[in-house]
Amino acid sequence: MNPHNKTSRPQQNSDKYTEFVSRGLGKDLAKRLGLPQPAILRRYSPLAPLVEGPILVVGQGAGADAVATVLLSWHQDVRRHTAPKEKLGAIVVVLDELGHPEQLSAPMLSVAAALRGLNRNARVVSISRQASSTDTPAVAAARNGVDGIVRSLAKELRAGATANGIVLANGIAADAPSAMSALRFFLSGRSAFVDGQFLTASCAGSVTEPDWTKPLTGSVAVVTGAARGIGAAIARTLARDGATVFVVDVPAAGDHLAAVANEIHGTALQLDITSADAGERILEHAISRYGRLDIVVHNAGITRDKLLANMDGAKWDSVIAVNIASQLRMNEVFLASPAFGNNSRIISVASTSGIAGNRGQSNYAASKAGVMGMVWSTAPLLAERGGTVNAVAPGFIETEMTAKIPFATREVARRLNSLQQGGKPGDVAEAIAFFAQPNAAGVTANVLRVCGQNLVGQ
Ligand code: NAD
Repeated sequence: MNPHNKTSRPQQNSDKYTEFVSRGLGKDLAKRLGLPQPAILRRYSPLAPLVEGPILVVGQGAGADAVATVLLSWHQDVRRHTAPKEKLGAIVVVLDELGHPEQLSAPMLSVAAALRGLNRNARVVSISRQASSTDTPAVAAARNGVDGIVRSLAKELRAGATANGIVLANGIAADAPSAMSALRFFLSGRSAFVDGQFLTASCAGSVTEPDWTKPLTGSVAVVTGAARGIGAAIARTLARDGATVFVVDVPAAGDHLAAVANEIHGTALQLDITSADAGERILEHAISRYGRLDIVVHNAGITRDKLLANMDGAKWDSVIAVNIASQLRMNEVFLASPAFGNNSRIISVASTSGIAGNRGQSNYAASKAGVMGMVWSTAPLLAERGGTVNAVAPGFIETEMTAKIPFATREVARRLNSLQQGGKPGDVAEAIAFFAQPNAAGVTANVLRVCGQNLVGQ
């Protein structure tokens, strides 16, 4: 059956439980019975404040001062010390000068003292340095220690609050534009379903401050698999952020694809991305309509689940063909074209299945882990022209795909993360829109999980 051949509106997968326990009788009942009480998450709106409440910047060095200065330039209410009983919107802990694990104590105890004052949906963000084999053992131990802190704290925070970290490559200042674009992402509602994760700033990035409400103005983007679900949300989000977007999906999805294109004032290209000339067709569409292509979002994907013992060639090959082989072929075409210019972006949708593995998904996990490998080895090729390539790995997202999972399995999958709920297609889209920003130019070769810190695979 063609999944797009529906006369009714696409099925909405909603989390009725979270709605029920968030107010009135349901809230009291859940409290009394000790049931999970997932928070209604603070999601991004261009008009909403970056964070709800003052931001405490913890750290003694020049890096902490520089980060505080950037936050002030964003018109944030910044504190270097907490006042008793003051409520906070966020804590930013700057740990860029660590030399030994013993130096974690003072800043982390300052963070600890401020935690009880966090507002709902608050943020804790660390800024630290990448540990590497060229560090002394003490330096590497201190730097890597931050990883354990952030991942643990993310599991302790409640009421929609999250903890995430920014990792600076050696030589990158704490207030480098790339690090600050990541900080802005983590502080904002764009990162509502990102928890216990890290973004690495490998070079300084662009120095021009964008219009933060329309950071993608002037960019031309293509999104594959955009007739519905996560792809449609990505197209809407990139368009909201100012990009000119064209959307791609199979001809059978033509009506839904046209509706998405109309909604975002973009254009539609009916195309099976596994066809040999898919890359050329996308480039041709971009050049003939818009003169160039800046952002490619590889979102189209399929599942054909079977235990490996029961797998057949058609199921294996179709998943590899759509989810990874097509991307490899298209990227070769884009990278060879001058129309895919400087500061170009490739962003792929991977999956937590590609990180942790999943029963019945050896083919899908091969394709999604393959996407990550592709990202890592494509990064140097794009860096030559100032471009970046990254992947977003969603966990449980409320879509038509996950609405088909049997109720009991779905309910377990949905709650097994630190935020005790499924994400929304828009949460994946916000992470992709962040990677597409000009100021994220120094953020490349990252795989960012958008999974509420799914307990599977970290
Ligand atoms: P979906 O099935 O709702 O949408 C996928 C879209 O891709 C469809 O419109 C489909 O027609 C299109 N598509 C499939 N094959 C194509 C082809 N050969 N050429 C062009 N278009 C094609 O899926 P979704 O849930 O929105 O997932 C989007 C992406 O996110 C996929 O890559 C998926 O693997 C990934 N993902 C989803 C979840 C989740 O929880 N929903 C979790 C992790 C990863």
